Amino acid sequence: MIARRALSAVLLGAITLMAGSAVALAGGSAARASDAVDAAALALRGGVAVYSDPSAEMALSSDDLDSLNAQAIATNLPLFIAVLPDSAKAGGSAEDVRDRLQEAVGMNGIYGVVVGKQFRAGTTDPGKQAGDLATQAFREEKANGLTAVLSRFIALTDERFNGNPAGPASSDAGGGLFGTLIGLMFGLLCLLIFIGLPAFFIIRGMRASKRRLAEVRTAIDEDVTAFGERVAGLDTSNPALPAESRQEVQQALDAYDHAKMAAMRMRSPQDAAEVTSALDDGRYFLACADAREHGKPMPQRRPPCFVDPRHGPSVADVSWQPPGLPARDVPMCAACQTDVAAGRNPLVREVQDSGRMVPYWQAGSHYRGYGGGYYSTFGDSMSGALIGTSLGSVMWGGPSSSSTVTQHESSGFGSWGSSGGGGDFGGSDFGGGGDSSSDSGGGDF
Ligand SMILES: [Zn+2]
Repeated sequence: MIARRALSAVLLGAITLMAGSAVALAGGSAARASDAVDAAALALRGGVAVYSDPSAEMALSSDDLDSLNAQAIATNLPLFIAVLPDSAKAGGSAEDVRDRLQEAVGMNGIYGVVVGKQFRAGTTDPGKQAGDLATQAFREEKANGLTAVLSRFIALTDERFNGNPAGPASSDAGGGLFGTLIGLMFGLLCLLIFIGLPAFFIIRGMRASKRRLAEVRTAIDEDVTAFGERVAGLDTSNPALPAESRQEVQQALDAYDHAKMAAMRMRSPQDAAEVTSALDDGRYFLACADAREHGKPMPQRRPPCFVDPRHGPSVADVSWQPPGLPARDVPMCAACQTDVAAGRNPLVREVQDSGRMVPYWQAGSHYRGYGGGYYSTFGDSMSGALIGTSLGSVMWGGPSSSSTVTQHESSGFGSWGSSGGGGDFGGSDFGGGGDSSSDSGGGDF
Protein backbone atom coordinates (compact mmCIF):
# COMPACT_ATOMS: atom_id res chain seq x y z
CA MET A 1 0.00 0.00 0.00
CA ILE A 2 2.83 2.33 0.82
CA ALA A 3 4.55 1.34 -2.40
CA ARG A 4 1.34 1.96 -4.32
CA ARG A 5 0.94 5.36 -2.74
CA ALA A 6 4.54 6.16 -3.55
CA LEU A 7 3.90 5.05 -7.14
CA SER A 8 0.90 7.32 -7.53
CA ALA A 9 3.06 10.10 -6.25
CA VAL A 10 5.52 9.34 -9.06
CA LEU A 11 2.72 9.31 -11.58
CA LEU A 12 1.62 12.70 -10.43
CA GLY A 13 4.91 13.86 -11.78
CA ALA A 14 5.36 16.58 -9.22
CA ILE A 15 8.97 16.00 -8.42
CA THR A 16 9.20 18.15 -5.34
CA LEU A 17 5.93 16.83 -4.03
CA MET A 18 7.11 13.29 -4.70
CA ALA A 19 10.35 13.78 -2.82
CA GLY A 20 8.48 15.33 0.07
CA SER A 21 5.87 12.63 0.33
CA ALA A 22 8.43 9.83 0.02
CA VAL A 23 10.20 11.19 3.06
CA ALA A 24 6.91 11.62 4.90
CA LEU A 25 5.76 8.11 4.05
CA ALA A 26 9.03 6.50 5.01
CA GLY A 27 9.00 8.47 8.25
CA GLY A 28 5.37 7.54 8.89
CA SER A 29 5.86 3.83 8.38
CA ALA A 30 9.02 3.75 10.47
CA ALA A 31 7.18 5.62 13.20
CA ARG A 32 4.30 3.16 13.10
CA ALA A 33 6.73 0.23 13.22
CA SER A 34 8.58 1.67 16.17
CA ASP A 35 5.25 2.56 17.82
CA ALA A 36 4.31 -1.14 17.74
CA VAL A 37 7.66 -2.14 19.26
CA ASP A 38 7.51 0.67 21.85
CA ALA A 39 3.97 -0.26 22.89
CA ALA A 40 5.10 -3.87 23.32
CA ALA A 41 8.17 -2.79 25.30
CA LEU A 42 6.05 -0.60 27.58
CA ALA A 43 3.70 -3.49 28.36
CA LEU A 44 6.57 -5.93 28.88
CA ARG A 45 8.41 -3.54 31.16
CA GLY A 46 5.20 -3.05 33.11
CA GLY A 47 5.02 -6.67 34.15
CA VAL A 48 3.27 -8.40 31.26
CA ALA A 49 5.19 -11.44 29.98
CA VAL A 50 3.31 -12.00 26.74
CA TYR A 51 2.01 -9.09 24.66
CA SER A 52 -0.09 -9.23 21.53
CA ASP A 53 -0.58 -6.26 19.22
CA PRO A 54 -4.24 -6.21 18.15
CA SER A 55 -3.21 -5.45 14.57
CA ALA A 56 -0.79 -8.40 14.38
CA GLU A 57 -1.53 -10.97 11.66
CA MET A 58 -1.36 -13.71 14.30
CA ALA A 59 -2.83 -11.67 17.19
CA LEU A 60 -3.75 -13.81 20.20
CA SER A 61 -7.26 -13.91 21.65
CA SER A 62 -7.53 -12.38 25.10
CA ASP A 63 -8.18 -15.81 26.63
CA ASP A 64 -5.06 -17.25 25.01
CA LEU A 65 -3.10 -14.18 26.07
CA ASP A 66 -4.26 -14.56 29.68
CA SER A 67 -3.38 -18.23 29.82
CA LEU A 68 0.05 -17.70 28.23
CA ASN A 69 0.75 -14.85 30.64
CA ALA A 70 -0.25 -16.98 33.61
CA GLN A 71 1.98 -19.79 32.35
CA ALA A 72 4.95 -17.50 31.67
CA ILE A 73 4.71 -15.62 34.96
CA ALA A 74 4.44 -18.86 36.93
CA THR A 75 7.89 -19.84 35.61
CA ASN A 76 9.51 -16.87 37.40
CA LEU A 77 11.73 -16.54 34.32
CA PRO A 78 12.40 -13.18 32.66
CA LEU A 79 10.28 -13.99 29.60
CA PHE A 80 9.43 -11.22 27.14
CA ILE A 81 7.24 -12.34 24.25
CA ALA A 82 5.55 -10.04 21.74
CA VAL A 83 3.22 -10.82 18.84
CA LEU A 84 3.56 -7.97 16.36
CA PRO A 85 2.34 -7.04 12.89
CA ASP A 86 4.59 -7.70 9.92
CA SER A 87 4.84 -3.93 9.41
CA ALA A 88 6.97 -3.75 12.59
CA LYS A 89 9.87 -5.00 10.46
CA ALA A 90 9.91 -1.64 8.63
CA GLY A 91 12.05 -3.17 5.88
CA GLY A 92 14.22 -5.16 8.31
CA SER A 93 13.96 -8.74 9.51
CA ALA A 94 12.15 -10.42 12.39
CA GLU A 95 15.54 -10.66 14.13
CA ASP A 96 15.89 -6.87 13.87
CA VAL A 97 12.50 -6.48 15.52
CA ARG A 98 13.51 -8.80 18.34
CA ASP A 99 16.73 -6.82 18.84
CA ARG A 100 14.83 -3.52 18.85
CA LEU A 101 12.40 -4.93 21.39
CA GLN A 102 15.27 -6.07 23.64
CA GLU A 103 16.80 -2.64 23.41
CA ALA A 104 13.51 -0.88 24.21
CA VAL A 105 12.77 -3.15 27.19
CA GLY A 106 16.36 -2.87 28.36
CA MET A 107 16.35 -5.94 30.58
CA ASN A 108 18.10 -9.25 30.30
CA GLY A 109 16.05 -12.35 29.65
CA ILE A 110 14.46 -14.65 27.12
CA TYR A 111 12.96 -12.75 24.22
CA GLY A 112 10.51 -14.06 21.68
CA VAL A 113 8.80 -12.24 18.84
CA VAL A 114 6.22 -13.30 16.33
CA VAL A 115 6.45 -10.75 13.55
CA GLY A 116 3.85 -11.35 10.90
CA LYS A 117 4.18 -15.13 10.60
CA GLN A 118 7.76 -15.48 11.76
CA PHE A 119 8.67 -16.70 15.23
CA ARG A 120 12.13 -15.85 16.57
CA ALA A 121 13.39 -16.31 20.09
CA GLY A 122 16.58 -16.46 22.12
CA THR A 123 18.24 -15.19 25.28
CA THR A 124 20.32 -12.08 25.91
CA ASP A 125 22.88 -14.19 27.72
CA PRO A 126 25.61 -15.70 25.54
CA GLY A 127 26.00 -18.47 28.14
CA LYS A 128 22.39 -19.56 27.80
CA GLN A 129 20.40 -20.75 24.81
CA ALA A 130 16.72 -20.73 24.10
CA GLY A 131 16.80 -20.47 20.29
CA ASP A 132 16.87 -24.24 19.90
CA LEU A 133 13.83 -24.46 22.19
CA ALA A 134 11.97 -22.06 19.92
CA THR A 135 12.79 -24.28 16.94
CA GLN A 136 11.70 -27.39 18.86
CA ALA A 137 8.45 -25.78 20.07
CA PHE A 138 7.67 -24.65 16.56
CA ARG A 139 8.35 -28.07 15.05
CA GLU A 140 6.25 -29.89 17.63
CA GLU A 141 3.28 -27.56 17.81
CA LYS A 142 3.01 -25.59 14.57
CA ALA A 143 0.03 -27.73 13.48
CA ASN A 144 -1.83 -26.65 16.62
CA GLY A 145 -1.34 -22.94 16.08
CA LEU A 146 0.59 -20.08 17.58
CA THR A 147 -0.77 -20.36 21.14
CA ALA A 148 0.34 -23.99 21.28
CA VAL A 149 3.80 -23.06 19.93
CA LEU A 150 4.29 -20.28 22.50
CA SER A 151 2.95 -22.42 25.33
CA ARG A 152 5.35 -25.20 24.36
CA PHE A 153 8.22 -22.71 24.15
CA ILE A 154 7.46 -21.42 27.66
CA ALA A 155 7.23 -24.99 29.01
CA LEU A 156 10.57 -25.88 27.40
CA THR A 157 12.31 -22.82 28.85
CA ASP A 158 10.82 -23.69 32.25
CA GLU A 159 12.27 -27.18 31.87
CA ARG A 160 15.71 -26.00 30.82
CA PHE A 161 16.19 -23.09 33.22
CA ASN A 162 14.12 -24.27 36.22
CA GLY A 163 14.30 -28.03 35.83
CA ASN A 164 10.51 -28.42 35.68
CA PRO A 165 9.61 -31.24 33.26
CA ALA A 166 7.83 -29.88 30.20
CA GLY A 167 6.10 -33.19 29.50
CA PRO A 168 5.43 -34.45 26.00
CA ALA A 169 4.19 -32.21 23.23
CA SER A 170 0.44 -32.25 22.78
CA SER A 171 -0.51 -34.86 20.24
CA ASP A 172 -3.61 -35.76 18.30
CA ALA A 173 -5.56 -38.16 20.44
CA GLY A 174 -5.54 -41.41 18.52
CA GLY A 175 -8.72 -43.48 18.49
CA GLY A 176 -9.34 -47.03 17.33
CA LEU A 177 -8.80 -48.87 20.57
CA PHE A 178 -12.43 -49.61 21.23
CA GLY A 179 -14.37 -52.83 20.78
CA THR A 180 -12.28 -55.07 22.95
CA LEU A 181 -12.34 -55.32 26.70
CA ILE A 182 -8.87 -53.86 26.85
CA GLY A 183 -10.02 -51.06 24.67
CA LEU A 184 -12.96 -50.37 26.95
CA MET A 185 -10.81 -50.36 30.05
CA PHE A 186 -8.34 -48.12 28.30
CA GLY A 187 -11.21 -45.83 27.40
CA LEU A 188 -12.39 -45.65 30.98
CA LEU A 189 -8.88 -45.00 32.19
CA CYS A 190 -8.53 -42.24 29.60
CA LEU A 191 -11.81 -40.77 30.78
CA LEU A 192 -10.52 -40.70 34.31
CA ILE A 193 -7.17 -39.25 33.28
CA PHE A 194 -8.39 -36.78 30.68
CA ILE A 195 -11.42 -35.51 32.55
CA GLY A 196 -10.82 -36.28 36.22
CA LEU A 197 -7.23 -35.15 36.53
CA PRO A 198 -7.48 -31.98 34.44
CA ALA A 199 -10.64 -31.04 36.35
CA PHE A 200 -8.72 -31.49 39.58
CA PHE A 201 -5.81 -29.38 38.34
CA ILE A 202 -8.06 -26.77 36.73
CA ILE A 203 -10.02 -26.32 39.97
CA ARG A 204 -6.83 -26.21 42.00
CA GLY A 205 -5.26 -23.80 39.50
CA MET A 206 -8.34 -21.57 39.51
CA ARG A 207 -8.32 -21.43 43.30
CA ALA A 208 -4.63 -20.57 43.33
CA SER A 209 -4.97 -17.86 40.70
CA LYS A 210 -7.97 -16.39 42.50
CA ARG A 211 -5.95 -16.35 45.70
CA ARG A 212 -3.00 -14.67 43.94
CA LEU A 213 -5.23 -11.99 42.44
CA ALA A 214 -6.90 -11.36 45.82
CA GLU A 215 -3.50 -10.96 47.49
CA VAL A 216 -2.25 -8.46 44.93
CA ARG A 217 -5.57 -6.59 45.06
CA THR A 218 -5.20 -6.21 48.83
CA ALA A 219 -1.72 -4.71 48.43
CA ILE A 220 -2.97 -2.43 45.65
CA ASP A 221 -5.94 -1.25 47.73
CA GLU A 222 -3.61 -0.42 50.59
CA ASP A 223 -1.29 1.57 48.33
CA VAL A 224 -4.14 3.44 46.62
CA THR A 225 -5.70 4.23 49.99
CA ALA A 226 -2.38 5.45 51.38
CA PHE A 227 -1.98 7.83 48.47
CA GLY A 228 -5.63 8.87 48.77
CA GLU A 229 -4.98 9.88 52.38
CA ARG A 230 -1.95 11.83 51.25
CA VAL A 231 -3.84 13.84 48.62
CA ALA A 232 -7.03 14.25 50.69
CA GLY A 233 -7.63 17.88 51.49
CA LEU A 234 -5.34 19.17 48.74
CA ASP A 235 -6.92 22.08 47.01
CA THR A 236 -5.84 23.24 43.58
CA SER A 237 -7.79 26.47 43.94
CA ASN A 238 -5.77 27.63 46.95
CA PRO A 239 -4.60 31.12 45.87
CA ALA A 240 -1.61 30.87 48.22
CA LEU A 241 -0.11 28.21 45.96
CA PRO A 242 2.07 29.25 43.02
CA ALA A 243 0.51 28.41 39.64
CA GLU A 244 3.07 25.66 38.94
CA SER A 245 2.35 24.04 42.30
CA ARG A 246 -1.35 24.11 41.58
CA GLN A 247 -0.71 22.37 38.29
CA GLU A 248 1.45 19.71 39.99
CA VAL A 249 -1.18 19.13 42.65
CA GLN A 250 -3.71 18.68 39.85
CA GLN A 251 -1.38 16.17 38.16
CA ALA A 252 -1.08 14.29 41.46
CA LEU A 253 -4.87 14.20 41.80
CA ASP A 254 -5.20 13.00 38.19
CA ALA A 255 -2.67 10.26 38.89
CA TYR A 256 -4.70 9.26 41.94
CA ASP A 257 -7.86 9.01 39.83
CA HIS A 258 -5.97 7.01 37.23
CA ALA A 259 -4.67 4.61 39.90
CA LYS A 260 -8.15 4.20 41.39
CA MET A 261 -9.71 3.43 38.01
CA ALA A 262 -6.93 1.02 37.06
CA ALA A 263 -7.31 -0.73 40.42
CA MET A 264 -11.01 -1.20 39.77
CA ARG A 265 -10.31 -2.59 36.30
CA MET A 266 -7.74 -5.12 37.58
CA ARG A 267 -8.48 -8.57 36.23
CA SER A 268 -5.09 -10.19 36.67
CA PRO A 269 -2.11 -9.65 38.98
CA GLN A 270 -0.13 -8.12 36.09
CA ASP A 271 -2.68 -5.30 35.85
CA ALA A 272 -1.26 -3.98 39.14
CA ALA A 273 1.58 -2.41 37.11
CA GLU A 274 -0.70 0.31 35.74
CA VAL A 275 -1.83 1.19 39.26
CA THR A 276 1.61 1.37 40.88
CA SER A 277 3.04 3.23 37.91
CA ALA A 278 0.29 5.89 38.30
CA LEU A 279 0.93 6.06 42.06
CA ASP A 280 4.64 6.58 41.42
CA ASP A 281 3.81 9.44 39.04
CA GLY A 282 1.40 10.93 41.55
CA ARG A 283 3.89 10.90 44.41
CA TYR A 284 6.50 12.50 42.19
CA PHE A 285 4.16 15.37 41.23
CA LEU A 286 3.29 15.82 44.88
CA ALA A 287 6.98 15.99 45.79
CA CYS A 288 7.45 18.65 43.10
CA ALA A 289 4.53 20.73 44.40
CA ASP A 290 5.83 20.36 47.94
CA ALA A 291 9.38 21.41 47.02
CA ARG A 292 8.10 24.44 45.11
CA GLU A 293 5.82 25.53 47.93
CA HIS A 294 8.62 25.34 50.49
CA GLY A 295 11.31 26.79 48.25
CA LYS A 296 13.35 23.59 48.25
CA PRO A 297 15.27 22.25 45.23
CA MET A 298 13.04 20.38 42.79
CA PRO A 299 13.22 16.61 43.30
CA GLN A 300 14.95 14.39 40.78
CA ARG A 301 12.96 11.66 39.06
CA ARG A 302 14.21 8.76 41.14
CA PRO A 303 12.84 5.31 42.01
CA PRO A 304 10.36 5.13 44.91
CA CYS A 305 11.77 4.37 48.37
CA PHE A 306 12.90 0.74 48.31
CA VAL A 307 11.90 0.16 51.94
CA ASP A 308 8.28 1.00 51.16
CA PRO A 309 7.35 2.49 47.77
CA ARG A 310 4.44 4.27 49.47
CA HIS A 311 7.01 6.64 50.97
CA GLY A 312 7.32 8.28 47.56
CA PRO A 313 10.41 9.19 45.52
CA SER A 314 13.79 8.30 47.00
CA VAL A 315 16.33 11.06 47.65
CA ALA A 316 19.55 9.00 47.74
CA ASP A 317 21.05 5.54 47.45
CA VAL A 318 21.82 4.32 50.96
CA SER A 319 23.82 1.29 52.04
CA TRP A 320 21.43 -0.98 53.94
CA GLN A 321 20.90 -4.60 54.77
CA PRO A 322 17.31 -5.58 53.97
CA PRO A 323 15.97 -8.32 56.28
CA GLY A 324 17.29 -11.69 55.13
CA LEU A 325 19.53 -10.29 52.41
CA PRO A 326 23.15 -9.13 52.12
CA ALA A 327 23.81 -5.40 52.40
CA ARG A 328 23.50 -3.32 49.25
CA ASP A 329 22.81 0.24 48.10
CA VAL A 330 19.09 0.92 47.82
CA PRO A 331 17.11 4.06 46.97
CA MET A 332 15.56 5.57 50.10
CA CYS A 333 13.31 8.43 51.10
CA ALA A 334 14.68 11.03 53.54
CA ALA A 335 12.84 9.54 56.55
CA CYS A 336 14.20 6.04 55.96
CA GLN A 337 17.67 7.46 55.37
CA THR A 338 17.46 9.19 58.77
CA ASP A 339 16.34 5.94 60.42
CA VAL A 340 19.23 3.99 58.95
CA ALA A 341 21.74 6.70 59.88
CA ALA A 342 20.45 6.52 63.47
CA GLY A 343 20.85 2.74 63.51
CA ARG A 344 17.11 2.08 63.42
CA ASN A 345 15.52 -0.41 61.03
CA PRO A 346 12.89 1.25 58.86
CA LEU A 347 9.54 -0.52 58.60
CA VAL A 348 9.48 -2.46 55.34
CA ARG A 349 6.47 -2.86 53.05
CA GLU A 350 5.08 -6.36 53.54
CA VAL A 351 2.49 -8.05 51.38
CA GLN A 352 0.60 -11.35 51.56
CA ASP A 353 2.05 -14.33 49.75
CA SER A 354 0.19 -17.60 50.19
CA GLY A 355 -1.20 -16.16 53.40
CA ARG A 356 2.19 -15.16 54.85
CA MET A 357 3.38 -11.58 55.19
CA VAL A 358 6.70 -11.08 53.39
CA PRO A 359 8.64 -8.05 52.14
CA TYR A 360 7.17 -7.22 48.71
CA TRP A 361 10.53 -7.88 47.04
CA GLN A 362 10.45 -11.49 48.27
CA ALA A 363 6.82 -12.17 47.30
CA GLY A 364 5.86 -14.62 44.55
CA SER A 365 5.90 -13.86 40.86
CA HIS A 366 2.28 -12.63 40.97
CA TYR A 367 3.77 -9.43 42.44
CA ARG A 368 5.75 -8.85 39.25
CA GLY A 369 3.23 -6.25 38.07
CA TYR A 370 3.06 -4.59 41.50
CA GLY A 371 6.84 -4.13 41.69
CA GLY A 372 7.21 -3.57 37.95
CA GLY A 373 4.92 -0.53 37.94
CA TYR A 374 7.02 1.09 40.64
CA TYR A 375 10.51 0.17 39.51
CA SER A 376 10.80 -1.15 35.96
CA THR A 377 11.01 2.30 34.37
CA PHE A 378 14.17 2.91 36.38
CA GLY A 379 15.84 0.11 34.47
CA ASP A 380 19.10 -1.45 35.47
CA SER A 381 19.69 1.19 38.16
CA MET A 382 17.41 -0.95 40.32
CA SER A 383 18.96 -4.32 39.54
CA GLY A 384 21.70 -3.94 42.19
CA ALA A 385 19.11 -3.25 44.90
CA LEU A 386 17.08 -6.27 43.82
CA ILE A 387 19.90 -8.84 43.66
CA GLY A 388 18.84 -12.07 45.29
CA THR A 389 15.19 -11.01 45.58
CA SER A 390 12.19 -12.69 43.94
CA LEU A 391 11.20 -9.38 42.38
CA GLY A 392 14.66 -9.01 40.86
CA SER A 393 14.53 -12.48 39.38
CA VAL A 394 11.19 -11.90 37.69
CA MET A 395 12.01 -8.37 36.56
CA TRP A 396 15.64 -8.68 35.60
CA GLY A 397 16.44 -12.33 35.99
CA GLY A 398 19.55 -11.59 38.01
CA PRO A 399 22.23 -8.99 38.39
CA SER A 400 23.35 -6.75 35.61
CA SER A 401 26.95 -6.36 34.57
CA SER A 402 27.12 -3.09 36.48
CA SER A 403 26.35 -4.78 39.77
CA THR A 404 29.02 -5.13 42.38
CA VAL A 405 27.96 -8.67 43.23
CA THR A 406 29.57 -11.43 41.24
CA GLN A 407 27.59 -13.25 38.63
CA HIS A 408 27.53 -16.66 40.30
CA GLU A 409 25.50 -15.38 43.22
CA SER A 410 22.46 -15.46 41.01
CA SER A 411 21.02 -18.22 38.92
CA GLY A 412 19.43 -15.70 36.61
CA PHE A 413 20.35 -14.26 33.31
CA GLY A 414 23.54 -12.30 33.02
CA SER A 415 24.40 -9.16 31.24
CA TRP A 416 24.10 -8.47 27.56
CA GLY A 417 26.31 -10.63 25.44
CA SER A 418 29.92 -9.56 25.17
CA SER A 419 31.83 -10.16 21.96
CA GLY A 420 29.82 -13.17 20.85
CA GLY A 421 26.60 -11.23 21.20
CA GLY A 422 23.11 -12.49 21.14
CA GLY A 423 23.68 -16.21 21.27
CA ASP A 424 21.97 -18.70 19.10
CA PHE A 425 18.58 -17.78 17.82
CA GLY A 426 16.25 -20.27 16.29
CA GLY A 427 12.63 -20.50 15.33
CA SER A 428 11.13 -20.94 11.93
CA ASP A 429 8.86 -19.18 9.55
CA PHE A 430 5.18 -19.63 9.99
CA GLY A 431 5.11 -19.75 6.23
CA GLY A 432 2.34 -18.52 4.00
CA GLY A 433 2.52 -15.08 2.48
CA GLY A 434 4.17 -14.33 -0.77
CA ASP A 435 7.78 -14.67 0.26
CA SER A 436 9.22 -17.37 -1.98
CA SER A 437 12.84 -16.36 -1.65
CA SER A 438 13.77 -18.98 0.96
CA ASP A 439 12.54 -22.46 1.62
CA SER A 440 14.78 -23.76 4.38
CA GLY A 441 13.65 -26.28 6.98
CA GLY A 442 9.88 -26.82 7.11
CA GLY A 443 8.03 -24.02 8.79
CA ASP A 444 4.81 -23.59 6.85
CA PHE A 445 1.48 -24.18 8.48
ZN1 LIG B 1 11.21 5.33 52.95
